[in-house]
Amino acid sequence: MKLVNLVDPDQQVSFLQAVRIGLGRKQGLFFPEQWPQLPVADLLKMPFVERSGHILAALFDGELSLTETTAMVDHAFTFEAPVVAVNERISCLELFHGPTLAFKDFGARFMAQSLQKANAAAQQTHSTIVTATSGDTGAAVADAFFQQPGVRVVVLYPEGKVSPLQAQLFTTLGENVEAIAIKGDFDQCQALVKQVLSDQPLCDQLHVNSANSINISRLLAQVCYFFEAWAQLPEAQREQTSIVVPSGNFGNVCAALIAVKMGLPVRRVIAATNSNDTVPRYLTSGQWQPNPTQATLSNAMDISAPNNWPRVANLLENDAKLREKFTSIAVDETQTCDAVRAMYRQGYLSEPHAAVAWSAFERLAAADECGLIVGTAHPAKFADRVEAIIEAPVALPARLQEVLEQPSKITQMAADYAQLKNFLLRN
Ligand SMILES: *Cc1c(COP(=O)(O)O)cnc(C)c1O
Repeated sequence: MKLVNLVDPDQQVSFLQAVRIGLGRKQGLFFPEQWPQLPVADLLKMPFVERSGHILAALFDGELSLTETTAMVDHAFTFEAPVVAVNERISCLELFHGPTLAFKDFGARFMAQSLQKANAAAQQTHSTIVTATSGDTGAAVADAFFQQPGVRVVVLYPEGKVSPLQAQLFTTLGENVEAIAIKGDFDQCQALVKQVLSDQPLCDQLHVNSANSINISRLLAQVCYFFEAWAQLPEAQREQTSIVVPSGNFGNVCAALIAVKMGLPVRRVIAATNSNDTVPRYLTSGQWQPNPTQATLSNAMDISAPNNWPRVANLLENDAKLREKFTSIAVDETQTCDAVRAMYRQGYLSEPHAAVAWSAFERLAAADECGLIVGTAHPAKFADRVEAIIEAPVALPARLQEVLEQPSKITQMAADYAQLKNFLLRN
C-alpha cells in the first residue's frame, strides 16, 4: 500500500511504515492517493469479520495478505456494531459495545494489531505508546494495548478534568499500562506528548508512538463498520440513507467518506458538530477560522482545529461527486438537549454526541431521506448529563460498575518535560 504525505508529497511510505511513524515530515498526514473499488453487493452478503478482512486487504494491496488481515480483524473486532431502528426513518449504528464503550475501541484495537505487524517487519521488539487524553482515547488505547508483549503504554491526562468513570478505565489496568495525572489541562498534556515526539534521541531509544487519532490504521479500521451498517439496513432503504456522524477531529466522518469512495451506496454524509463549528463555517464562507474551543455537553467533540481535516479536504478536492454528497452543520446546546429528549420519547436512550447527529439530521433531511446516526458512545458514559436532561436514571452496564470498584494506580506529575522524560527513561 502506498501512502503519501499530504504536506510533503516526496515522502511516501507503506502502511506498516505509516503505522510506526504516525505523523509525517512537516506535520503532514499520510493518506492513500488511490482507492480500490470494491464489489459491494458481494461484500454486503458476508459476515462482519470476513468482510472487514476483504475491505482492508484491498486497501493494503498485497502488503498484508487476506489471511493475515482477516486474522488481525478477528482479534480486533470482538464485539458487534448493531444498527438499531429508532423510528421508520432513523436508525442508530451503535459503536459502543467494545471494552471502553466508545467507537474508538475499533480503531485502537486494530492499531494494536497493526503495530505488532509493523514492529515485527522492522525487527523491533519493543515500543512505548505515549498518549494524551481528555477521556475516551486514553481508555481505548490503554485497553487495546493492555498485556501486549513488548509494548509499554503511558497515558497522560489532566488531573481532575477527566470523569472518574473515564479515568477508572485506564488507571486500573496496571501491568504494561501506566497513568500519569498531570497538574494542568488537556492542552498541556498534549504539548508534553508533542515534546516527547520531537525528542529524537528519546524516540529512537524507546521507539515512541503516540497512537493518536491521526494514525492511519485507526482510520482505515473505521471504514469497515459503515459497510457493516449497510449490510444490516433493509435493502430498500440503503440508497435513501445518509450517514450522520457527530464530529470532532473528523476521523470518523473521513472513514465514512472513504467507504463511499470505495463504492458504498450512501445518499450523503453529514458531519454534525457542536458549537465548535470551524468546518461548517468554512464550507459556507471559504475561510478557515478556528475560534477558541468551547466546552459543550458533547465534550469529545470540543475541538476547533480538527486534525483529520486535511484528509477530508483531500478526498473532497479530488472528487466533485463526493463533494456534492458532503455537508456539515453545527448544533447548539439547546438543540442537543432537545434531541436527547426527542429520542428518549421515541423509546431510545442516547447521549449528547449521538444527539448532535440526530438534531443535524432532523434539520437537514429531505422528505424521502433516511438517516443512520452514528452512536459513538454508550449513554452510561455520560450518565450524569443524560440523567439531568431526561430526568430519569441511567443504569451503568455491569462492566462499568466493576471498573468503578477497582483500585487505581496513578503517578502525579507537574506539567514539566524534564520530569516526564525522567519517568520514561527510568522505568
Ligand atoms: C472521539 C469521539 C467523537 C469524535 O470523533 P472524531 O473522529 O474525532 O470526529 C465523537 N463522539 C465520541 C463519543 C468520541 O469519543
